Amino acid sequence: MSGSTVQQRFSLEGRRVLVTGASRGIGIALCDVLSQAGADIVAVARDPAGLQAAASLVEANGRRCLTIGADLALPDAPERVGREALAAWGTIDVLVNNAGVSVPKSLLEQSIEEWDFIQAVNLRAPWLLARTLAPAMIAQKRGKIVNVSSQTSAVALTEHGAYAASKNGLNALTKVMTVEWAPFNIQANAICPTVTWTPMAERIWGDPARLDPMLARIPAGRVATPEEVCDVVLFLSCAASDMVNGHALLVDGGYTAL
Ligand code: NAP
Repeated sequence: MSGSTVQQRFSLEGRRVLVTGASRGIGIALCDVLSQAGADIVAVARDPAGLQAAASLVEANGRRCLTIGADLALPDAPERVGREALAAWGTIDVLVNNAGVSVPKSLLEQSIEEWDFIQAVNLRAPWLLARTLAPAMIAQKRGKIVNVSSQTSAVALTEHGAYAASKNGLNALTKVMTVEWAPFNIQANAICPTVTWTPMAERIWGDPARLDPMLARIPAGRVATPEEVCDVVLFLSCAASDMVNGHALLVDGGYTAL
């Protein structure tokens, strides 16, 4: 036995957690849930009002929040964000690469600019941010990286070619993070949610003609809530998951069990 309690192993007390895409949707819910579990939060996104709302939630939970504005599609932004976070707080214990974009179009219609934009935010930024923060995790011999991927990395979905490629790439990147950094007690995992009710989902799935066939394929009969995704991220961020490494963990209500 480790000598710790269940409460300690599921706690983020004293941990410094960086969340990208923190201004709305799953990301702002992550700021709330992870700070309720004891974490101080670095919140990253473009929208200043959304970042302020995230900070208010974290501070209402009695934790510190540092906000950093950044457009993660830009090549130099992720490393700048990482350097700013390290300069402020010395180290980051948990990185949650949650920021993501989707531009649903068929393979015939998707533009090269849209393809590159999706890969830049969903795939390149997580790599650049992780490699900026990893040396401090390696030095302290402890760290967690949670990459927010998608069910769409496991099953095909029309109009999601660029998005699915980015999320499959993120799953593969997660495995390489695992084999390179597990020896330093860093656990990297991806989570793959089904449709989760956020501003992104409302935009893409708001039309019942599109949503109803998706619901019919989810054995649970409903979409996920942001909190249900956050609770799995919490597990992958705390000591309870110290032997869980390199997964692409589906949070899909049974969709892929069909
Ligand atoms: P959302 O409601 O659209 O929120 C996306 C977040 O990412 C926002 O905080 C946004 O902040 C940030 N972001 C987007 N582009 C950015 C950029 N260029 N630079 C910095 N930040 C950027 O999306 P969500 O549904 O919460 O999705 C969160 C993650 O879950 C994504 O990775 C998504 O792919 C994944 N996911 C979502 C679903 C779903 O059904 N919702 C399902 C599976 C996976 P700013 O606009 O303020 O920059």
